[in-house]
Amino acid sequence: MRRRQAVTVLSAVFCVLIALVITAVLAVPHAGEAPVEAAASAEPEPTATPAPVESAEASEPPTSAAEAVIDENYVQLDDWQLVLVNDTVPLPDDFVVTPQLYDGVQINSRMYTALRDLLRDASDAGVSLWVASAYRSVEEQERILENAIQNRMNDYGMTREEAEENALLTIQKPGHSEHHTGLAVDFNNVARDFENTDAYAWLMENAEKYGFVERYPADKEEITGIDYECWHFRYVGRDNAVAMNELGMCLEEYVLYLKNQQA
Ligand SMILES: [Zn+2]
Repeated sequence: MRRRQAVTVLSAVFCVLIALVITAVLAVPHAGEAPVEAAASAEPEPTATPAPVESAEASEPPTSAAEAVIDENYVQLDDWQLVLVNDTVPLPDDFVVTPQLYDGVQINSRMYTALRDLLRDASDAGVSLWVASAYRSVEEQERILENAIQNRMNDYGMTREEAEENALLTIQKPGHSEHHTGLAVDFNNVARDFENTDAYAWLMENAEKYGFVERYPADKEEITGIDYECWHFRYVGRDNAVAMNELGMCLEEYVLYLKNQQA
């Protein structure tokens, strides 16, 4: 009798367990179904819009993070070597560039000799350095931006407004790229790992002798409004380059400094 009772109790417990298992299995969707449901109901994430960076714009910085901190009363100095072009200051209307080809790349003819000497001496020093891009017209920048907008509208279904906003994260707006001056040079692979090369080390040591400075240093992002770009150098003339490095100033600071000196 006792044994029978025990068996009954065990059977009851067993039945309850079975029932629980069945309930659980019915309640929970099959593992295989879950992803299907999730995928079916998944909306394209509205914020997941960082479109691929086109190669043509790889050299251009995201400008959304930092706004250039520039005196609102800023005036352009009357010195072509120090012409300032950034997110808030457009290329002056009267700034004339005579493009000249150097090794297949268009540069401002006024820095031709300086750039040629720099590259020759780098080569003599066994350093592998070349110009990836330099002069870019406003019209060219407009084409690059328009292409990027069209790509985003076609490939990501963005509205024109969304596409433009997104494209401007990686493309400088026309009229505001320093490359319009023809005095900016992007070296080698136009990538962050350039800073680990002998070529970069050589430039940091020697560029000022030829009138070039690193234009967007890491510690000046707040002022330039541009994220660190180790590959982008700017011709400012030898005296200015040496002075800027001595003072530890980027172009925005240096131009204001000179303006205040003159005042
Ligand atoms: Zn550049």
